[in-house]
Amino acid sequence: MDYANALLDLVGDTPLVRLRRVTDGASPLVLAKVEYFNPGGSVKDRIATRMVEAAEKSGDLQPGGTIVEPTSGNTGVGLAMVAQERGYRCVFVCPDKVSEDKRNVLTAYGAEVVVCPTAVPPEHPNSYYSVSDRLVREIDGAWKPNQYANENNPRAHYETTGPEIWKQTEGRITHFVAGIGTGGTISGTGRYLKEVSDGRVQIIGADPHGSVYSGGTGRPYLVEGVGEDFWPDTYDRDVCDRIIEVSDADSFSMTRRLAREEAMLVGGSAGMAAAAAIRLAREIDDPDAVVVVLLPDGGRGYLTKVFDDDWLARFGFLTPPRGEQTVGDLL
Ligand code: PMP
Repeated sequence: MDYANALLDLVGDTPLVRLRRVTDGASPLVLAKVEYFNPGGSVKDRIATRMVEAAEKSGDLQPGGTIVEPTSGNTGVGLAMVAQERGYRCVFVCPDKVSEDKRNVLTAYGAEVVVCPTAVPPEHPNSYYSVSDRLVREIDGAWKPNQYANENNPRAHYETTGPEIWKQTEGRITHFVAGIGTGGTISGTGRYLKEVSDGRVQIIGADPHGSVYSGGTGRPYLVEGVGEDFWPDTYDRDVCDRIIEVSDADSFSMTRRLAREEAMLVGGSAGMAAAAAIRLAREIDDPDAVVVVLLPDGGRGYLTKVFDDDWLARFGFLTPPRGEQTVGDLL
């Protein structure tokens, strides 16, 4: 019989899919690593298992313990899946800009969620970093994976995402593009691809306008899960050859195009990474170039945001014609 023993055994080995229409005639092959094929729906499933296993081994997480983590949702889903499998309690701390849909997903998996304001600095007592630290101190048997400083975050990508891409492209990848949140994806995958290619593969970070990685000060932006207002330990500053800055408008426009033109319903950070990858591809005058862009999660968690015309209009973004029309509009 052909079956998985547990859902967690299905993490990784996500497909590469060619982008055909949104490339607007760029000559290199542009391939998307579609991470919503992971069982929890995002790239973060990869790091959750590794971080928990390492904490069990070191004794930081004991049987019956509680996992406490500041997360914008995806890491929470991954951790909640591992926690269920192994009998831990989960408490997640989210900034208030994270969509309600995403928070509801966490509670559906059986986790508890605490919401904190986005518009305060990280050192503020109500920031989601500070609140999670306080919960760790106060809950008995609590362990904080701290994806922003946990070496098992980039390591998961060094050991899985990087080798998968190298194998899938038969070593022909020339450019790797990914957004940067904790930096785990780009640092781990990028370091592997640099090493295995003797430095030939170019690593390109995509970053929201306003974030520190592209020289900003942490000014607010709307795209979720990427960009930071501080430099996390999990980001390897030596790995990126270049950072491409992308505006919210371009990120959201590409997110919508991916759904309508490639049938890829993905989140805003995927649209941001794809916008950067296509900008890059259009500059490359080499038909043998192979650009791989990582799309971190699916779009269902953002239906009331990126995919909602009124929400986009509220922030002054131009929108394509409404998807839903009356019979009168169509005649
Ligand atoms: N996109 C989304 C939706 C995310 O949740 C994250 C993780 N914060 C990222 C991109 C960035 O990945 P990383 O943390 O590995 O840099």
